[in-house]
Amino acid sequence: MKKKAIFPGSFNPITRGHECVIKRAMPLFDNIIIAIGDNQNKENFFPVNKRIEWIKTVFKDYPGIEVMTYSGLTVDFCKKVGAKYILRGLRTSADFEFERSIGQINKQLNTEIDTVFLLTATQYTPLNSSIVRDILKNGGDPSPFVPEGIDISNWNQ
Ligand code: ADP
Repeated sequence: MKKKAIFPGSFNPITRGHECVIKRAMPLFDNIIIAIGDNQNKENFFPVNKRIEWIKTVFKDYPGIEVMTYSGLTVDFCKKVGAKYILRGLRTSADFEFERSIGQINKQLNTEIDTVFLLTATQYTPLNSSIVRDILKNGGDPSPFVPEGIDISNWNQ
């Protein structure tokens, strides 16, 4: 049976940290669905259609990588698309504590689904989407922090 994982997050926008985790996960899974969640608690800065477009551009040469949006429980989305694994990236021990409880609760919600964690590359440990948004909002150049081939500066044109 094909191994399918989802990589849930807000990808607001996708960063080199996300890209690194996804590329490292590719040898482990036949399919990875990058799943943009409708998270009411997070700032909704970039429109979802832009976030999708950037992800599609970054992974245009990788047929095993798809992008979808979802709302509701992550484990319910996994069931809907037939994924047995949730992929998450770990930057620091703070990430680990946050992820540990979500992973353990998800396991209780659906015992057939496991969470797989991958460490980020050292240089991406301090990177997150909100820093990229702040750089952009304050007139800086976000391009070193987002994958090559996308230009997030023109997002509202
Ligand atoms: P962020 O935390 O940047 O807002 P998301 O909510 O989109 O990102 O998180 C999606 C997943 O990507 C989470 O598992 C998160 O830990 C992981 N992630 C985010 N940034 C990085 C990074 N720089 N290196 C590795 N994993 C990351």
